[in-house]
Amino acid sequence: MRKINLFLVSVIALLLMSCVNLPKEYASYDDYPVYEGNDLEVVYSPLHTKFRLWSPAAKEAKLNLYHEGLGGEPFDVVKLKYDIDGTWVATVDGDLKGKFYTFQIFQQDRWWDETPGIWAKAVGVNGNRGAIIDMSETNPSGWEDVKRPAMKNFTDAVLYELHVRDFSTSEQSGMQYKGKFLAFTEMGTVNAEGKKTGVEHLKELGITHVQLLPIYDYASVDETKLDENQYNWGYDPKNYNVPEGAYSTDPYNPTARIIELKKAIQSLKNNGIRVIMDVVYNHTFWGVQSHLNLTAPGYFYRFKEDGSWSNASGCGNETASERAMVRKYIIESCKYWVNEYKVDGFRFDLMGIHDIETLNLLRAELDKIDPSITIHGEGWTAEWDFPLPFEKRAIKQHAKQLNNIAVFSDDIRDGIRGTWDNNKVPGFMAGVHGYEESIKFGVVGATQHNQLNYDSVKYAKAPYANHPTQVINYVSCHDDLCLHDKIIYSAPEGASDKEKHRFNKLAQTIVFTAQGVPFMYAGEELKRDKQRVHNTYQSPDSINQIDWTFKTTNYDIFEYYRNLISLRKQHPAFRMPTQEMVQKHLRFINVKEPALVAYTIDDYANGDSWRRILVIYNGNRYAINMAIPVENWVVVANGEEINLNGIFKHNKQEITVPASSALIMYAD
Ligand code: CA
Repeated sequence: MRKINLFLVSVIALLLMSCVNLPKEYASYDDYPVYEGNDLEVVYSPLHTKFRLWSPAAKEAKLNLYHEGLGGEPFDVVKLKYDIDGTWVATVDGDLKGKFYTFQIFQQDRWWDETPGIWAKAVGVNGNRGAIIDMSETNPSGWEDVKRPAMKNFTDAVLYELHVRDFSTSEQSGMQYKGKFLAFTEMGTVNAEGKKTGVEHLKELGITHVQLLPIYDYASVDETKLDENQYNWGYDPKNYNVPEGAYSTDPYNPTARIIELKKAIQSLKNNGIRVIMDVVYNHTFWGVQSHLNLTAPGYFYRFKEDGSWSNASGCGNETASERAMVRKYIIESCKYWVNEYKVDGFRFDLMGIHDIETLNLLRAELDKIDPSITIHGEGWTAEWDFPLPFEKRAIKQHAKQLNNIAVFSDDIRDGIRGTWDNNKVPGFMAGVHGYEESIKFGVVGATQHNQLNYDSVKYAKAPYANHPTQVINYVSCHDDLCLHDKIIYSAPEGASDKEKHRFNKLAQTIVFTAQGVPFMYAGEELKRDKQRVHNTYQSPDSINQIDWTFKTTNYDIFEYYRNLISLRKQHPAFRMPTQEMVQKHLRFINVKEPALVAYTIDDYANGDSWRRILVIYNGNRYAINMAIPVENWVVVANGEEINLNGIFKHNKQEITVPASSALIMYAD
């Protein structure tokens, strides 16, 4: 009897001991456990709130509870208990809605600074404390009915890259909520002359996707000083899963930014426009003091052999997507934006810093939700010497290994406009010779085509896209000079304003008739002018904002862009989704002159109503006579205007292509 009792006591003691989890020591970050649950950090209910922080190497962890989002002392400090897989937990009874919290860990013999963690979904002003809210109360009315506007192939998209502030801050915008998410909900707005602005303008232009520059919470704008003239693009992430407070009407109220962003997305989508989010998981604004680092020091970043921070982003640090919990974080964060905010796609900043596998896993996860959710990114990095092996990098050269993920084509961009790093050097659009193969490379959507000499393409010496759905064609974006400024800067001496106008139209016509996904920088359709400032990431509104008076003064450009987009949308021949289709239907015409590219698209390509299409780009500043196939052509673009009803007819063997122009014609 006594023996049995002793045995039972030992068994119970052993069982009890195994129930007490203790944090462990780890030899490397790769040994950190992965937490598979979906309840990280805060799960609110009116009865109690559960907290779970992932911080495997911490020796202790605590939770600070506050009445305020900023200032004041904690009204309660709760010691977190080590649980499983590197997580620390506490349950706090009572209704904590409206309260704020931070975590703190003890590691390397010190208490680290407070952080809302990495999974805060709501925060106080400036995002230093998490906010406890009921997410189910953040949906605007009608939210359940918000659908993804229809899209078959990514090549059917017309991407429009826009900064929240730029859209509405101009005095002439006609919008009330200047610089705010809510500007996207304002309908019927016009400029002083009655021309449509805002969302109505976007609909009139015909774009299909708005790609918003960072809308997650970023660090560089002080949300407590919004009356001061502050501006930033927002490539300085602070809280990845919370909207930026400066774009809300009240950054102190944690639900305002959430509800208002949802209203903006609802409005855009109800008007037929999808929303792409610019995501910057590649680095954080701070290194040591970032929320990622205060949660699990070191784990989220790559380091050089000497222990210093690796810096492929050029911003002082870079994240380590190949590490299990970083990978999981990026994937779960994107899924969160899709599920909670109904975002339709992602643009990855400096995507080349991430590893290929992470992006492909993200693709697979998004496919489970909706395969028409898009992913594209910058297939390069700011610096090239960093620890991730070259073959694992999600760079342009590896696009063929990226499943249904698109990359920006700097080949067509710089072929058209001239090199990005020299403002004064123009490209094909201004008659510079030598860019013909770069233009052709753009025309075939960066795919394999037997009429191309890849050795002569500006950067890529080989096709990198499996299909045109994998390449983003563009001539300008937020980086570097906008198109008008580049033209002003680089136009050859003596070029008249009228000529510069033609360069603009030619440049964008190449983008919008090339196979691939066309992308434009907001306001280019109004001949946006950033006063020749190359990098406007923190320039004032006066330089960055879209000047809506331009809708009146540059209406000719607007009409041209609108008709150009209409041409593309009405004619699927310009939107072929596969390499095979392009190889079958698109043939280049051999031309003798430099800065001249001509091709036909035959046989009702991709279900087009036009049997045959002829496109000629003449970059030369003089007219060229060239031989063309004989057909009963109807010319729909002549360098000045685009008119789908036809501008003139032509049935001769030779045609005069005006200086600096794109000629487009069709035959039934
Ligand atoms: Ca912020």
